[in-house]
Amino acid sequence: MSCRIILCDDEPNYRFLLRAVLEPEGMEVVGEAGDGRECLALAEQLQPDYIVLDLNMPGMDGMTALPMLRELVPGSEVVVLSTAAPEEAAAETKRLGARGFVHKPADIFSVPGALRAAIAA
Ligand SMILES: [Mg+2]
Repeated sequence: MSCRIILCDDEPNYRFLLRAVLEPEGMEVVGEAGDGRECLALAEQLQPDYIVLDLNMPGMDGMTALPMLRELVPGSEVVVLSTAAPEEAAAETKRLGARGFVHKPADIFSVPGALRAAIAA
């Protein structure tokens, strides 16, 4: 199964760590974006299977980018990965078209499993 991913998060160090834990799990990180606007351009160009999207970012934030991504690249599923409280953000992001919501775990190594679970749910 093809699993090409774009990582969108404003923290370069967090993107670096995400890439390091996702790639050994067979998820190919084809692009990285630092805000929603950059993510839209990359997604249109690369047509990934999944977009891992942060919410709190300077410039265009994730909540703004999410419905635009769904419209621009309907073949790309969006999984939100955020420090936002799930009880507040999960339903709203789902309403805007996200496939899943994952609360950023303290342990970076639990991210791949959490993303898989969100996608499978
Ligand atoms: Mg952020």
